[in-house]
Amino acid sequence: MIKVAKPQIGEEEVEAVRKVLLSGNYVSGKTVVEFENRFADYTGTQYAIAVNSGTAALHIGLEATGISQGDEVIVPPLTFFATISSVLYLGAIPVFADIDLDDLCLSPIDVESKITSKTKAIIPVHLFGNAAKIHELIEVSQQSGISIIEDCAQAHGTEYDNKRVGSFGKAGCFSFFATKHMTTCEGGMITTNDPDVMTKAQILRNHGMQGRDQHVVLGYNNRMTEVEAALGLVQLKKLDKLNAKRIANSEYLLKELEKLPWVKLPSINRNVKHTYFWCPIMVDEEESGKNIEDLKHHLMKHKIGFRQRYSEPLYKQEVLKKLGLDYSNVNLPKVEKVAGEILGLPNHPGLTTQELNKIVDVLKSF
Ligand SMILES: *Cc1c(COP(=O)(O)O)cnc(C)c1O
Repeated sequence: MIKVAKPQIGEEEVEAVRKVLLSGNYVSGKTVVEFENRFADYTGTQYAIAVNSGTAALHIGLEATGISQGDEVIVPPLTFFATISSVLYLGAIPVFADIDLDDLCLSPIDVESKITSKTKAIIPVHLFGNAAKIHELIEVSQQSGISIIEDCAQAHGTEYDNKRVGSFGKAGCFSFFATKHMTTCEGGMITTNDPDVMTKAQILRNHGMQGRDQHVVLGYNNRMTEVEAALGLVQLKKLDKLNAKRIANSEYLLKELEKLPWVKLPSINRNVKHTYFWCPIMVDEEESGKNIEDLKHHLMKHKIGFRQRYSEPLYKQEVLKKLGLDYSNVNLPKVEKVAGEILGLPNHPGLTTQELNKIVDVLKSF
């Protein structure tokens, strides 16, 4: 089986974890601070605040920028649910705007049409390693004084106009879950240039505590451990190399597959350095008479892993109704068109040339 994703962990990571474990210092130590500093440097922001998941990064990132009960937050409908669970935890209301078909990310024009007097934030998701149209989104947000919180959980190292994502908005939120570009097993990071957001985020992740025994807000235990930070430091050092391999693998596959008449590829903005969290392809059903279900069976038969997400627009998720939110009138044509139709091929940095060629051969035989 050729796996669709695979964490890239070696002896250096094992040794770093071993050192921390034997040191006896596991929480709120110098390794987390070092990881935060290195990550802020990498992203090009003043500050970074480490937490224990990407979901916690979004939750605390939104809360630290002042999002609360009843605020409207504009989100894309094609993303992992955690993008909106963070909004819901705060009693704020996700408002869905459509995507653009070229990059599968938020459409700035549709976002603009969804802004009301209650809109407090926009969460662009840099989906699959691509970058959302961040300059246009910032322009739209500035017209009305709204914060941009970037969901960078699939875009470590992705650049727009030579600037890394996570450095454009009021805050950037990263995940270090096992399948992402770099991992700490579970973990997350908030990046920001705003000292006030930084201070609030540090307090929120640590029981709302300022100093010893002074609980100034209702906080959480969302701290990253020293073990995770030690892993993160090694992985961050390797990130550009891992990304280069991920990009080369994806570009090789896409170049070969482009020639096949039934394959449709998303286009890539030339101002974007795409880091291919996914290597996404679509089946041109009208032209070829082939469909994605048959392609999935073909890949399974030949032991090639794939992912097929997100199967439907987020506004259709059952939990929203249970929370008393009614999206039955929401119908965004572009996301309706592509949800469930995008397939991710194996492209992780550990793939060999033989494996890449096998993927190409199997797709050619479809
Ligand atoms: C992975 C992911 C998250 C959540 O990160 P966790 O670390 O799993 O909590 C949020 N948003 C997007 C787009 C993701 O892909």
